[in-house]
Amino acid sequence: MLTTATPESRCHGCGHTLDAVRGPGGRPPRAGDISICIDCGAVHIFNADGTIRIPTPEESKKLECLQGVILTRKMLPIYRAEIGMRAGHA
Ligand SMILES: [Zn+2]
Repeated sequence: MLTTATPESRCHGCGHTLDAVRGPGGRPPRAGDISICIDCGAVHIFNADGTIRIPTPEESKKLECLQGVILTRKMLPIYRAEIGMRAGHA
């Protein structure tokens, strides 16, 4: 998995500082890509400058049903263990 530093943003779900993204895409995030908070599982969307935004209500409805989102949330405990992070702690 590729880890890419991003401009610092705050998760709208838990306030966790998000300053990097990790994923199987093998490229830095692009505008419109999805970000899932490793701490709480909240879904965000990348802006063109690498920051994140809260999805619109319509986007949220679609995102919550995506298999990739569902599976990534199930994998969060594994990702946290890989980086030595406990849930609920930055
Ligand atoms: Zn969060």
